[in-house]
This record gives sequence, structure tokens and C-alpha cells, in this order.
Amino acid sequence: MRCPYCFHEELKVTDSRETQELNGIKRRRECLSCQKRFTTYETIELTIQVEKRDGSFEEFQKEKLIKGLELACRHTRISHDQVLTLANQMATRIMEKGVPVIKTVEIGERVMEELRKLDTVAYIRFACVYRRFKDVDELVDAIETCSEKST
Ligand SMILES: [Zn+2]
Repeated sequence: MRCPYCFHEELKVTDSRETQELNGIKRRRECLSCQKRFTTYETIELTIQVEKRDGSFEEFQKEKLIKGLELACRHTRISHDQVLTLANQMATRIMEKGVPVIKTVEIGERVMEELRKLDTVAYIRFACVYRRFKDVDELVDAIETCSEKST
């Protein structure tokens, strides 16, 4: 890596800290030549393909997972921090599987398992999107299963 201002090669790290948003490391660096400072980010590169219901593929994006989780968790007791933690845990687990392809259904099922433990309302919302309940009975079943677990 070179200094972005003078392209000098010798840099020193002045500060290094973990960032929860990125599940990575943020570093402050200083150029030993021009003394200017800048920030670099080190994060995990996910190159896992997600197989969608229609058979098409797209690259796994943690941002999408976060968005979905945030929608599901709106007006629930689950905080933004909990959503980020959950998304990071999911992303790590998906990576640890070491497979190049994962199905959206599989991701959805895992998220539901985690949400179910955290908050019933969020669980139902997420389940509605991912599982696309075929009829009202299925939805009622899910709600009943949840209330049994939480009582
Ligand atoms: Zn420089």
C-alpha cells in the first residue's frame, strides 16, 4: 500500500480498532514521508453465490441481509446493534460452511431460527417474507409455535 497523497511506500499505523458495522478492522495510517493521515478498512470478502427461488444467482450481500432484518425488526424490541450482530453472525456462519453456493431458503430458515429466539413479532414478519405462507393456517401455526416457545 502506498500513501494516497505522495505515493510513498513507508507508512505507519497510528491506530487500529475493530468495527462492528463492518465486522472488520479500521486503521489510521500515517505516511512517513508527507506525514498525512488516512484510514484503511480491512474486512472479509464474501464471494458466495446465493441461489434464488427462480434458479438465478446473485452474490451474497450482507447489506441485503441487514435490510431484510431491519424491516422485520422495525417496531420490535430488537435494536439496530442486535440486527448488525445477527447479520454478522449469519455472514460468518455462511462463510464457514465453505460452500460456493447457498440457497435463499437456507439463509431464511437460519435467520428465522435466530429471530424466533429474540422476538416473536420480528420472527413472524421475517417468516412472512421468506416462507411466503401459502395460507392463513400456516401463519397461525407459526404464531402458535412461537407463543408456545415464549411462554
Ligand atoms: Zn505521503
